[in-house]
Amino acid sequence: MFKWISRGARGFPDITSLGKEEREDLARRFSLRSTERGGRLEDRDGTVKIRVNLRDGAGTEAVLLKDREGRGTACVSTQAGCPVGCVFCKTGSLGFLRNLDAGEMVEQFLHIREIGAERGGEVGHLVFMGMGEPLLNLEELRRAIGIITDPRGLGLSKRRITVSTSGIAGGIRALADQSPPPRLAFSLISAREELRNDLVPSGKTNPLTRIKEALAHYQDKTGQRITLELVLLGGVNTGAEEAAAIRNFARGLDVVVNLIPWNPVEGLGFRGRALREPSPAEVGALARLLERGGLNVTRRFRRGRGVSGACGQLGCVDREGQPR
Ligand code: SAH
Ligand code: SF4
Repeated sequence: MFKWISRGARGFPDITSLGKEEREDLARRFSLRSTERGGRLEDRDGTVKIRVNLRDGAGTEAVLLKDREGRGTACVSTQAGCPVGCVFCKTGSLGFLRNLDAGEMVEQFLHIREIGAERGGEVGHLVFMGMGEPLLNLEELRRAIGIITDPRGLGLSKRRITVSTSGIAGGIRALADQSPPPRLAFSLISAREELRNDLVPSGKTNPLTRIKEALAHYQDKTGQRITLELVLLGGVNTGAEEAAAIRNFARGLDVVVNLIPWNPVEGLGFRGRALREPSPAEVGALARLLERGGLNVTRRFRRGRGVSGACGQLGCVDREGQPR
């Protein structure tokens, strides 16, 4: 049963290893899935965003992303809304509704795999980068990773799973001690503590020194390179002072810095000013300063913006999948 369910059976009739009567009996008493695929939005670049309806009427969102080679990645949510409230993030502006359970996370992955299959493409990577802060829902996250990596079911390699966190130090340590630990991405945003605390409110209880120690522990345990995500806000965190602080933070860690130009969300501002996208010159200058300091730098493609399915734009569709 575990094998059939985790490999994507949608209902008992799909489980052909059971007798007909048995299947009918089970179907009368149980349902295989607790979530339903709601409306979807598709971007010209191949990104598909779906609303996932939860059994209590709440909803969350999951995204299929395609890279230039056509490989698919599922981006999955861990909470409905998010309690952290980063000032640049649509999800953060919605507030927090509730944690998702492991089944609700696994089913998002199954829905996205099905959409990938309908379009003739494999979805071989999973990122927990949708709505919510994964490490504030650690037990269910762990269970979901355990199910998805179980060789009796989907058997996805832990190397193909990435968890992104806004920096919950205790959670990073706990995840490191988990077997199998996934890849880790940390949303650094700014390495200047005061600025960071204003942008990422969870920073106030998770100082950068504690986060850095936790990242070092993660690296010791797993031997993995960690991604530092920098959402670039025009005129806020793109200057030379920021570059120096980032280099200082990264010292002693094995990291790759991922530059993510801010994806616009209407109505969000900071310190009395509307947020704006960074100019290409700002992005280029920061990248050069970091590289000159010996850091590996990558830039994230702008994908999914046509369906508000890009980073930080989740929380924009209603039950029917219409933008709101
Ligand atoms: N809560 C986790 C994971 C979900 S957010 C975290 O914060 O890491 C996934 C990524 O989207 C994070 O790196 C976050 O900083 C980034 N993000 C949030 N809002 C964004 C926006 N408007 N534009 C670009 N990236 C954004
Ligand atoms: Fe939550 Fe991540 Fe958005 Fe911050 S960036 S509000 S932690 S989902």
